[in-house]
Amino acid sequence: MKTTRSKKLFAEALRYIPGGVNSPVRAFRSVGGQPLFIKRAKGSRLYDVDGNSFIDYVLSWGPMILGHAPAPVIRAIVRAAANGTSYGAPTELEVRLARMMTEAVPSMQEVRLVSSGTEAVMSAIRLARAFTNRDAILKFEGCYHGHTDYLLAKAGSGLATLGIPDCPGVPSDFTRYTLTAPYNDLPTVQRLIQANHQNLACVIVEPIAGNMGVVPPGDDFLPSLRELTRAHGILLIFDEVITGFRVHYGGAQALYGVKPDLTCLGKIIGGGLPVGAYGGAREIMRLVAPAGPVYQAGTLSGNPLAVTAGIETLKQLKAPGLYKKLDERATALAEGLGAAAKKAGVPLTQTRVGSMLGAFFTKGPVVDYASAKQSNVQAYAKFFHRMLNQGIYFAPSQFEAAFLSTAHTDADIKKTIAAAQMAFKTL
Ligand code: PMP
Repeated sequence: MKTTRSKKLFAEALRYIPGGVNSPVRAFRSVGGQPLFIKRAKGSRLYDVDGNSFIDYVLSWGPMILGHAPAPVIRAIVRAAANGTSYGAPTELEVRLARMMTEAVPSMQEVRLVSSGTEAVMSAIRLARAFTNRDAILKFEGCYHGHTDYLLAKAGSGLATLGIPDCPGVPSDFTRYTLTAPYNDLPTVQRLIQANHQNLACVIVEPIAGNMGVVPPGDDFLPSLRELTRAHGILLIFDEVITGFRVHYGGAQALYGVKPDLTCLGKIIGGGLPVGAYGGAREIMRLVAPAGPVYQAGTLSGNPLAVTAGIETLKQLKAPGLYKKLDERATALAEGLGAAAKKAGVPLTQTRVGSMLGAFFTKGPVVDYASAKQSNVQAYAKFFHRMLNQGIYFAPSQFEAAFLSTAHTDADIKKTIAAAQMAFKTL
């Protein structure tokens, strides 16, 4: 594979940008080698600056559920851009997107738009603390909720990839109120809630963990979190930044039938432009300024281009049978990869919910961060590069999800499975 131009650009990037990238996992640190510089993308494909093309299973880390540059979304963005790119005043577009989101996710009676998942979660937690008049929060090991100071404790995503346990620059006082429990571990949650319920504002969870690889919730996990929190006046926050509109039009809460108090969204609702959102019951949301005293604001919040991309993406996602089809393709991919690994004698534990797929190089089972970390990351790195060399782009980290889009074809899946057969054979 030719990588001359990517190498040259990376060398230059390293002179001006820390680590050469604007978000850590992009740098290929955990799999070795150097990142590829992307020039354009269309459908299921990424095209790099050296003329290579790849079937993309990263999809900008989740947002591009319709594939890259879907024509209706791009047309709408271009039309919107001609009307100006930011006004700092209300628009009809924001009302439309808010209505669509509240219809899709009925636990959100009201919703506030922000510009990233990080902002959505940070704001939801501030609101939970204000509503309950309590300070402590409970999060799960290996879950990632953005890079807010007090949420970096035992976090997944890039912190898992790079092995960063505690982040310098975060005063220990800031994490004093952050309790952590292993994912899927109800006895520990119960114990922590018993001991801290008077000061616990919220439990925040990825309803399907997607930042330590994919770790689905056990059958009782989410319903029990719901019961335990409700019993003690603790708010339950679902961080659906990945799962929202990904596993179901109504998110993981619709899939599992569990209703949180607050929901955080991001990624898909911006259709590839920067949007995040948090919402919940009117009684809680009415505390947000200017309706109430909990301050939260943003110069570019509800940006007309980003909101347009979100509206058009959600419109497309309403197509009948769309999620079923995604699930079928994902099943085919998972089965093909599983069979290839088995044939080659490579121990592989696969996890999947709809079009979110995980594969760990371990005998498993994988139910939490500790078991996810049993994966042989050197094997993953080899697998990653062997796939990349055959034109298949998986995440440059074991601890991320693979995503499918509606643009991935049966031929893409076939090609990926054939490539995996080659890759596993030589592991
Ligand atoms: N929550 C979850 C579950 C995420 O996966 C992410 C990002 N991958 C975030 C929050 C943070 O979102 P952003 O990167 O847009 O700030």
